Amino acid sequence: MSMSKIPVAVLGATGSVGQRFVQLLEGHPWFRLAEVVASERSAGKPYRTAADWRLETPIPNETGDLKVMDLGAELESTLIFSGLDSSVAGEAEDTYANRGCAVVSNSKNHRMDDDVPLLIPEINADHIDAIEQQRKRRGGKGYIVTNPNCSTVGLAMALAPFERQHGIDTLHVTTMQAISGAGYAGVASYAILDNVIPYISGEEEKIESEPQKILGRWDNGHFVPAEFRTSAQTNRVPTIDGHLMTISLGFRNGKDLRRTFTLDQLIADARSAIDNFEGEPQRLKLPSAPEHPLQYLKELDRPQPRLDRDRGHGMTVSIGRLRPCPLLDLRMVALVHNTIRGAAGAAILNAELLKAKGLL
Ligand code: NAP
Repeated sequence: MSMSKIPVAVLGATGSVGQRFVQLLEGHPWFRLAEVVASERSAGKPYRTAADWRLETPIPNETGDLKVMDLGAELESTLIFSGLDSSVAGEAEDTYANRGCAVVSNSKNHRMDDDVPLLIPEINADHIDAIEQQRKRRGGKGYIVTNPNCSTVGLAMALAPFERQHGIDTLHVTTMQAISGAGYAGVASYAILDNVIPYISGEEEKIESEPQKILGRWDNGHFVPAEFRTSAQTNRVPTIDGHLMTISLGFRNGKDLRRTFTLDQLIADARSAIDNFEGEPQRLKLPSAPEHPLQYLKELDRPQPRLDRDRGHGMTVSIGRLRPCPLLDLRMVALVHNTIRGAAGAAILNAELLKAKGLL
């Protein structure tokens, strides 16, 4: 019954990620979208007029009729999803958290803060222990949790079985990122059609630092990052949704491993670790948890964005082409749906974890 659902607000509801929030919250068993917030350009208008809706499903009726509110407005909801532009997200998210709300954010601003979890619940659900410390700092019940950069989510999930099994020392990743990752205004069609742009502002720095926090530990009041070194190169390509990446990795004790196991054994081990990978969302049966967070595709030419991005309702990261690397140890290809597992779907899964753990 909708009356017993938790009312939630979406900040930045008119944008690329905001529209995905609206789509994924329709019919959610625990949450009811009660409020939508955007800039003064949209405030005061009905959502269906303010948002230039671009998704394949229609705007949910109840949401279309909601009046868009101004950023900073007093909200009825105490669970707030943020898909705000990073120029305003930092301050606005702090404001709502300091008012006592649980803010579940997509934006980069607070991801690396000392007491803010950067969550992928299959990997580091225990990082929510940092919330207690954050609440003390804020002096109330409110807090912020974040999900990673859209490429980082796919990368960290693809790495998790390897980091758990043997530990990673060195990593090289090259991304081919869809245009929906650049936000609604995005990249001009004249710039991206028939083209590849070998630069995405700020992206390589995020991919080179966020996975270490995610795959690290929350230990005695602070985050201890995982120790691998990363080199990232990022490209914008003319796909609509789905970030594809090629990854090479070297193990921490690679020499010993190669002495003890053949490469075929290492690959077979890695395949089974990928197939069996799961975490808290699967154990708790959270509503947005995919049955398989990782899926290995055997075909030599997969994964591909158009064919594989919607696996697990966009929440499964697909992996393929696992094979020896002549420079490091292994190499592979990974694909993540950037606005679902890489953004709105990730945040909703985070909020489901918080609810299941009694933090809402
Ligand atoms: P977007 O399409 O440009 O949407 C930005 C949203 O922020 C819109 O709702 C916009 O409202 C609102 N906004 C902008 N300026 C504002 C202001 N001064 N006051 C209040 N609201 C304001 O961007 P996006 O791609 O959805 O990204 C949103 C956030 O998620 C960013 O921080 C981004 O880095 C992050 N993220 C994006 C992706 C992705 O794949 N796209 C993935 C992970 C994380 P108006 O419509 O009223 O202007």
